[in-house]
Amino acid sequence: MNTSFASLPLRAELISNLSTLGYASMTPIQAQSLPQMLAGKDLIGQGKTGSGKTAAFGLGLLNNLNDKRFRIQTLVLCPTRELADQVAVEVRRLARGIHNIKVLTLCGGMPMGPQIGSLEHGAHIIVGTPGRIEDHLDKGRLDLSELNTLVLDEADRMLDMGFQDTLDRIVDQLPAQRQNLLFSATFPEQIQKIAERVMHNPAMVKVESLH
Ligand code: ADP
Ligand code: MG
Repeated sequence: MNTSFASLPLRAELISNLSTLGYASMTPIQAQSLPQMLAGKDLIGQGKTGSGKTAAFGLGLLNNLNDKRFRIQTLVLCPTRELADQVAVEVRRLARGIHNIKVLTLCGGMPMGPQIGSLEHGAHIIVGTPGRIEDHLDKGRLDLSELNTLVLDEADRMLDMGFQDTLDRIVDQLPAQRQNLLFSATFPEQIQKIAERVMHNPAMVKVESLH
């Protein structure tokens, strides 16, 4: 398998940022999942912690984003605020130099006022935890009518934390025409079930080793 990022049809800014970050070659999960994601397919990626799943979906979603359209196009759901913050940091690093990409985090346990203010200013990408995202949606503060990409990160942990019904209710409110990406360290039966509800004919990628 070709592990050079340059072998992918990635926009030039992304290739340049990867080299600045010192990402010389793709990790196995990146090499197997990026071609599928860039082709617009739904994808389930299973790989251990540290296998590089964030950059895998981060590159996929940034490459498909229309940066000139200042509307929420991507929603990344994470189990905890710490993980959401880490994802936002990585996506912002990967997005450097692409004309003003705005990544907004919306997590539980954080004060509402600033989040409401930030939402009024708009964003391209939202990274958040399910409870708080549902809350903003229910209050009509989050316009996801132009969403075209959904990422469920650490899906096994989200289910362990009891977010299954919240996820279902969020997904019910999303435009039907969208790309779905699900990443998980393990693949219990519950994940299979949520994948069947959320995804359309997903490609499956599973890697055992980290590098
Ligand atoms: P996971 O979500 O699979 O647990 P992360 O996305 O957090 O893993 O990545 C783990 C670490 O690997 C991070 O510090 C990230 O910066 C680094 N990393 C990701 N992709 C690459 C790459 N292609 N080359 C070098 N380091 C990478
Ligand atoms: Mg991760």
